Amino acid sequence: MIPEEYGGSGLPISAAAAVLEEIHKSGCNGGACHAQMYIMGTVLRHGTEEQKRQYLPKIASGELRLQAFGVSEPSSGTDTLSLRTTAVKKGNDSYVVNGQKIWTSRAEHSDLMLLLARTTPKEEVKKRTEGLSVFLVDMKKALGNGMEIKPIRTMVNHSTTEVFFDELEIPADSLIGEEGKGFRYILDGMNAERILISHESLGDARWFLKKAVDYANERQVFGRPIGQNQGIQFPLAKAYANTEAAALMAARAAQLFEAGEPCGPESNMAKMLAADAAWEAGDNCVQTFGGFAFAEDYDVERKWRESRLYRIARSRPIWCLPLSPSMCSAYRAPIEPGMSKPLEGITVVALEQAVAAPYCTSRLADAGARVIKIERAEGDFARGYDRQVGGHSAYFVWLNRGKESVVLDIKQTDDAAVLERILSKADVFVQNLAPGAAARAGFGSEDLRARYPKLITVDITGYGEEGEYADMKAYDFLVQGESGLISVTGSPEVMGRVGASVVM
Ligand SMILES: Cc1cc2nc3c(=O)[nH]c(=O)nc-3n(C[C@H](O)[C@H](O)[C@H](O)COP(=O)(O)OP(=O)(O)OC[C@H]3O[C@@H](n4cnc5c(N)ncnc54)[C@H](O)[C@@H]3O)c2cc1C
Repeated sequence: MIPEEYGGSGLPISAAAAVLEEIHKSGCNGGACHAQMYIMGTVLRHGTEEQKRQYLPKIASGELRLQAFGVSEPSSGTDTLSLRTTAVKKGNDSYVVNGQKIWTSRAEHSDLMLLLARTTPKEEVKKRTEGLSVFLVDMKKALGNGMEIKPIRTMVNHSTTEVFFDELEIPADSLIGEEGKGFRYILDGMNAERILISHESLGDARWFLKKAVDYANERQVFGRPIGQNQGIQFPLAKAYANTEAAALMAARAAQLFEAGEPCGPESNMAKMLAADAAWEAGDNCVQTFGGFAFAEDYDVERKWRESRLYRIARSRPIWCLPLSPSMCSAYRAPIEPGMSKPLEGITVVALEQAVAAPYCTSRLADAGARVIKIERAEGDFARGYDRQVGGHSAYFVWLNRGKESVVLDIKQTDDAAVLERILSKADVFVQNLAPGAAARAGFGSEDLRARYPKLITVDITGYGEEGEYADMKAYDFLVQGESGLISVTGSPEVMGRVGASVVM
């Protein structure tokens, strides 16, 4: 929300969330006004002082409507980073915009649009998240001068549009923040949007539940209120429980946002849980009303259609995709595409097996690094430790989630050349082969650092690289046995290993 120094109320996002939740809980829809509460956040957080003074007071007073959020495109909805609209710098004074946006809601009723466009071609950036920039476009000036708006009729009363850009020239000072960093700025805005939408969905869920409970208490069938039947009660009670659980996540997301903490996962989860809870409550409300749910008079069918939107719009579902059953599969952690993590853009190559190095690189993968695990044809033998997780070994899944995997035999010339090419673009190399094995194959750390001065190399060994124990294997189970640990665990009859790995 806009601080008092820029003419706003200075209220936190939870205040906006409460307003929107109440609107939805009362049977109405906040779609016409919610964007004014979050889009300006990008200007507030990333704009220059001049831009803030120019726009924020007027947005706060309502004189300027910043209601249009131009992100989605026909060929890139969920996959924002693939958007194609471009803004090319023309001299020092302007940018020229070409492309198309879709689902730009309220564009016909907005004075300004926050536009996300590519300023550096995808092929020329190191990370996909770079090269996108955010602009504040004066829509009144742009309309008819390179920008056209075409309304889309939808199943709900939600004014949404397609926006076409054909050589639209906008002043260079429309740029918000730094050129090329727009994706991060937009993510901030999306988190605020998702928190607000969570509360709109919570309001919907609460409206449906009240409506359904009231009706269930009144409606007499077979001589008694239908609400006396557990078949009516249980689904509503479950929807109520899910609504309250979603409310806790939404409150947590708002709390983090207000504290200036990262809140990507929480705001996504809140939106997903709240939208699902609203849909569940709506579906059960329809069921409770029976045929009368279809009558426009009760508003149930209207709300039901409206509440469905938030299981789609601005969604980042949590996907967990084993890409292929082959050895080249990727075990991906549940991540949100585009979610900002500290090691995003860092590539780690791991010539690894068993536990120690996989554990090290799993921490890097969790922090956002792209980890490419090199495996021999038969795979990391930790794959075969057990079959506890959907047929995979518990150790392997735990230690390799979020990584990609490629099969290479580095003793073969062709495969070694592939590894060399991967390493030439990598930032970190981690290996835990037997001491000296990587060097013998031409991938010793010192040599690699000489070839690629920016590469960070990590060698992990069990008992050091030299000395009388150097060649001893140091797998977790062996260490537990050799150290005597397993002799004090298990039962008097059968020794047992410690469940958690001690080799890390
Ligand atoms: C009424 C309305 C208003 C909107 N307002 C705005 C707005 O103001 N500004 C704006 O920028 N956008 C807006 N949107 C766009 C909205 O955010 C997108 O529709 C949404 O991001 C989904 O994109 P898409 O429709 O292209 O779906 P797609 O990306 O084509 O996805 C289709 C389906 O496939 C699923 N999917 C995609 N990839 C995967 C995968 N890897 N694994 C599993 N499932 C996958 C998606 O979850 C979805 O269910 C609006 C949309 C609607 C309907």
